[in-house]
Amino acid sequence: MTPKQMYFENVSKTIIKNLKKRQMEGYYCSSSSEARQKVLSLIPDGSSVSWGGSETLKETGILGALKERDVKIIDRADAQSKEQRKELYANVVGCDFFLMSTNAITVDGELVNIDNTGNRVAFLCFGPEQVIVVAGMNKIVVDEEAGLKRVQNIASPPNTVRLNRKTPCAATGVCGNCLTPETICAQKVVTRFSPVPGRIKVILVGEELGF
Ligand code: SF4
Repeated sequence: MTPKQMYFENVSKTIIKNLKKRQMEGYYCSSSSEARQKVLSLIPDGSSVSWGGSETLKETGILGALKERDVKIIDRADAQSKEQRKELYANVVGCDFFLMSTNAITVDGELVNIDNTGNRVAFLCFGPEQVIVVAGMNKIVVDEEAGLKRVQNIASPPNTVRLNRKTPCAATGVCGNCLTPETICAQKVVTRFSPVPGRIKVILVGEELGF
């Protein structure tokens, strides 16, 4: 095991311990394939499953593997009209599992997320029976302030480029704290406690994943 891998394991143990005091469950997987197996093992056949936009879920192959499973997939990409999107989101509220990554996670176990329309953070806070959060080691930060800085200066700039948004960070790579209709930073949510014990499960992966 390399020193970096040992560090990943050690810091994950600390985070998992701190998640516990916040009524969240934590797991460490050393690779994407291990994380994929872990996520699949948490979702019984017949469950209804949806997810928020996430490069991590794509990179780990979790979304692809889910589609091979005997589960009911609720994919917002399937909505062809405003009415269908409304109906689909109504179904996500009542689904069994909602999958997402997090924009940052503090060593003290808080999840830090910035969202635009807010559907992803809404379902993190309320609705789906269980939420599975998959996060690479690049998402770890020392505290909430560092988490917000990470999102606005490291995660959002490449995301705005990906989404072809005309924002200051897309042009300069640095957050300009914009207030334009093009912003992807409308909602800031810090999850410091899960009122329902064990509803939020965090899978830490010993790799760099997503933005
Ligand atoms: S607030 Fe605006 S400039 Fe800053 S990261 Fe978000 S979209 Fe980019």
